[in-house]
Amino acid sequence: MIIACLDLEGVLVPEIWINVAERSGIEALRRTTRDEPDYDKLMRYRLEILDERGLGLPDIQDVIATLDPLEGAGEFLDWLRERFQVVILSDTFYPFAAPLMRKLGFPLLFCHDLEVDAGGRIVDYRLRMPDQKRESVLRFRELRFDVIAAGDSYNDTSMLAAAHAGILFRPPPNVVEEFPQFPVTHGYPELREAFERAAAELG
Ligand SMILES: [Mg+2]
Repeated sequence: MIIACLDLEGVLVPEIWINVAERSGIEALRRTTRDEPDYDKLMRYRLEILDERGLGLPDIQDVIATLDPLEGAGEFLDWLRERFQVVILSDTFYPFAAPLMRKLGFPLLFCHDLEVDAGGRIVDYRLRMPDQKRESVLRFRELRFDVIAAGDSYNDTSMLAAAHAGILFRPPPNVVEEFPQFPVTHGYPELREAFERAAAELG
């Protein structure tokens, strides 16, 4: 049996923080790991900005609820779930992902968590563990599953490398350049084909 591990943002749904920045008009929230590679610093900065603006979890969830999965994502996920056991491995947080998971039929999701006080203020964030995506793939392999993983960006590459087969989906040019070992796909039909090919090779 094969487990298909999928990244969430950029593969099935739009980038959450960038859309929150756009829809809330808070430019400072556009900052990503490309601008600030230290993830902890980036998250503290984001939480500070939300505090300054008096925005809590319900406000962010209202914005996220207006987002939709990428066009064709639902059909792709249905196709994948008929053929593989599917796990979504993401660096987002459960309360953020919830409105989007509803629109995708609640697939299995491993991600991180937020600490929220009674007033809805996001007090802190809790990473499941460092490099959760890669660790999950390694644990699935210990359970004797074959693993095919797909993701779009830098934070997916250790997961792709840990899997039996890794696939890039709409990656930025620097990731393509740095990781030429992974096939690159640009749309869901191509991604399906890449999954089929990888599965055939696993036998
Ligand atoms: Mg992504």
